[in-house]
Amino acid sequence: MSILAAALVVTIRVYDLFGLSPDTRHEALALAAETLAQAGVQAIIVDCSVGPAMATPCKTGLAEGEIMLRIQRHPKDGAHVLGDAIVRGDAGPNTIATVYAAAIAERSRRTGTRLATIVGRVSAHEIGHLLLGTNVHASHGLMRPSWELQRLDRGDWDFTIEDAATIRRRLQPHEPSRVLAARAES
Ligand SMILES: [Zn+2]
Repeated sequence: MSILAAALVVTIRVYDLFGLSPDTRHEALALAAETLAQAGVQAIIVDCSVGPAMATPCKTGLAEGEIMLRIQRHPKDGAHVLGDAIVRGDAGPNTIATVYAAAIAERSRRTGTRLATIVGRVSAHEIGHLLLGTNVHASHGLMRPSWELQRLDRGDWDFTIEDAATIRRRLQPHEPSRVLAARAES
């Protein structure tokens, strides 16, 4: 039981290279964590944004199960792109997601949607790509490809039941390690 529970945790190191205000960043990350919690995944957020408080864990290599969320100004191409994720396929590891804060700020101005809300949703979407192991999109829910930000239905901003199940399954320990753990206990 404890093995399964422990497996459904993901540690997210956040590097804010854009420089959101701390309040906006915290609110956005809380929304992303809440969205993952809806899918049954506990997110441990480690804020590694540049500053005197940069924590020691941020200076070591990524451990297994850790992912990195970068908040940058602009994408290399396509100013309309709000975020992306580097997905190497099912085998992974898939560890780097990026959100583009200048494009998001522009979208926030145009739609009247709070900046923190969009950053949080885009973060959850891109982290979703990492956890799902694919850049393929869903027809509805958080992983749909294009967003009308004024949508108020909560279901538009959560993972679908199917996507949440896939994420949980992928975070479970692999069968052999579960067998080994069971043997070790007996
Ligand atoms: Zn996407």
